[in-house]
Amino acid sequence: MKASEVKKRIVALRTEIEKHRHLYHTEDTPKISDEAYDALVRELTELDPSSVIPVGGKILEGFVKTKHLVPQWSYDNVFGFDELKRWDERNRKILSPSFRGGDVRSTTGGVLEYCCELKIDGLKIVLTYQNGKLVTGATRGDGSIGEDITENIKMIKSVPQTISDKRTIVVVGEVWMKKSDLEKINTERQTVGLAVYANPRNLAAGTLRQLDTSIVASRDLQVFCYDLEIVNPLHASGEGGSRREPGEVFETHEQELRFLKQNNFPVNNKTKTVSTLEEVQSFVDQWIPLRNYEEYAVDGVVIKLNDVTLREVLGHTAKSPRFGVAYKFPAEEVTTVVENIDIQVGRTGVLTPVAHVTPVLVAGSVVARATLHNQDEVDRLDVRIGDTVVLRKAGDIIPEILQVLKDLRPKSAKKYTLPDTCPVCDALVSKKKGGLGDDSVALYCMNRKCPAQSLENLIHFASKKAMNIVGMGEKIVEKLLNEGLIKTPVDMYSLKKADLESLEKFGDLSASNLLESLETSKHTTLQKFLFALGIHHVGEETADLIANTFSWRNNADLFEKMVHTTDEDLIKINGIGTTVAESFVDYMNDAERQEVVKNLMDILVFEKPEKADVKNLKLAGKTFVITGTLETLSRDEAKALIKKHGGKVSSSVSNNTDYVLAGEAPGSKYDEAQKLGVKIIDETGLTKMV
Ligand SMILES: [Zn+2]
Repeated sequence: MKASEVKKRIVALRTEIEKHRHLYHTEDTPKISDEAYDALVRELTELDPSSVIPVGGKILEGFVKTKHLVPQWSYDNVFGFDELKRWDERNRKILSPSFRGGDVRSTTGGVLEYCCELKIDGLKIVLTYQNGKLVTGATRGDGSIGEDITENIKMIKSVPQTISDKRTIVVVGEVWMKKSDLEKINTERQTVGLAVYANPRNLAAGTLRQLDTSIVASRDLQVFCYDLEIVNPLHASGEGGSRREPGEVFETHEQELRFLKQNNFPVNNKTKTVSTLEEVQSFVDQWIPLRNYEEYAVDGVVIKLNDVTLREVLGHTAKSPRFGVAYKFPAEEVTTVVENIDIQVGRTGVLTPVAHVTPVLVAGSVVARATLHNQDEVDRLDVRIGDTVVLRKAGDIIPEILQVLKDLRPKSAKKYTLPDTCPVCDALVSKKKGGLGDDSVALYCMNRKCPAQSLENLIHFASKKAMNIVGMGEKIVEKLLNEGLIKTPVDMYSLKKADLESLEKFGDLSASNLLESLETSKHTTLQKFLFALGIHHVGEETADLIANTFSWRNNADLFEKMVHTTDEDLIKINGIGTTVAESFVDYMNDAERQEVVKNLMDILVFEKPEKADVKNLKLAGKTFVITGTLETLSRDEAKALIKKHGGKVSSSVSNNTDYVLAGEAPGSKYDEAQKLGVKIIDETGLTKMV
């Protein structure tokens, strides 16, 4: 970017951030996710390191302001192990003069310990107790002045109104709402036409800022407390805040948490104290998938030095205390800029617009491209080249663009329209339904000889779940196609060693290996073969359903049966609709394709399916959906086990699903199952059934 562009961008980012900050903190109605907001702030501070974004919101009218006895800092964020290490090194540098030689040790004599706590995504509250009574409950506000919401906080059942300790004590906690309660409340709001809350944090915040305490009482707010200060009122001045009495009561953060528990404050029990950064990292890694199982939202881990006495020594930076740090989970939503949009031609000829974005780290990997699906999606988002967008990638999911930040759009940006000819072969494109219950219309290159389609088809044919030709990867297929050595899958099986060795960088050994895996791949199943053909709408599961309807004497017999199958025959199969049936029959009746299928079937050997008496099997008639990482079985093993006992495996959860087999980090299918009331089982559950 030119200097003038950078300046413009900084101004635009500042305005955008201020807008969203207001929506988030003051209105409790965010229009973008916290992660997307964080990404904008990161970009601004990278372009202009002097930028200071205030944390927290403005005080709403209607609440009395209250000055905190103890200033409420917020922790610095780290986003990875390297940043965590830098935080630790900085601390050790500051601490080392205070200790004699060798390793930095805590004042209690041991090595430095780190207390890891889940970072609950809720609303921070500050509770002040005097003479054993709760006297003030406040929001964090800007850190020194918050809103007095004492009457509302008294409505939270788990906040103690009285404690036995008579000193002045400031307790800090996070108010949150159960995910299930959010859903209930949103459902109710929807039925009466009210706007729904974006997330539990907003609902908790919105509730605590109700001027009517009965609303607060009616909502089951929860709290976790995680910090306290014993305040010597003599030292609690207007400006400087409080002064801790070192060593007076607590030496470690663990002791503080114990004190809180003893005084009936709710404390999250997932806290763990460790003594190396590697252990901190594994605690973080462990919670990235596990957080989905908790009723509260977790967006990271807060790491604090366990030795409380070191806090004074370490002190504060301009905005944060040094003794602790917030390790944010890898963002699944970030912001980036669309640099270009181009078209990918798939193996069915479908044209998919793809956004090329400024490379960005999301969910732990660098993303440079995101799918835009089709023209409908491009129109819905109104995404244009030059736009700043919110991009999401979760786990293995293909990155996609969620939203366009239109206030950051350059003036020159034009609406994007898909071309009316194929960008690879120039053939005219034609509109077809997306299929499979999807109402959207997609564009297809109708040229059967389109090089892009041939390439994708050949790659698919050789891929692992299809013919599993080890060594026949994308690059090799592309080379063979370009050299004119293959045109259809049949040609793969006539390749000679000399053909392969003539390829650049293709040695004797790799040629022999590839020929051998071609030989091996000839022994396959009808299901894999049907899937490998790449018939439109025939995925793995569908190929299995179709393959199971055939019985045959030999391949010639099977070929005849396949080409004479009618729509009516196929629709009789449970799980096959008209779209699939028509697509299969069209394919098998196409003279050119028939030829390829016939030639392939002359050389392939199909395993005969075991014709078990399905009706007497334990899982007969039951449909399963698998999600998450299973502990002892691979996906394919679990599928095989279910099928062996007569069950079916489907890829999406619906009312026809009997069981969802869930492993670790299950994702949206798990939520869907809960919504539909589908029984969720684990591997033990499955093995007990068979
Ligand atoms: Zn084409």
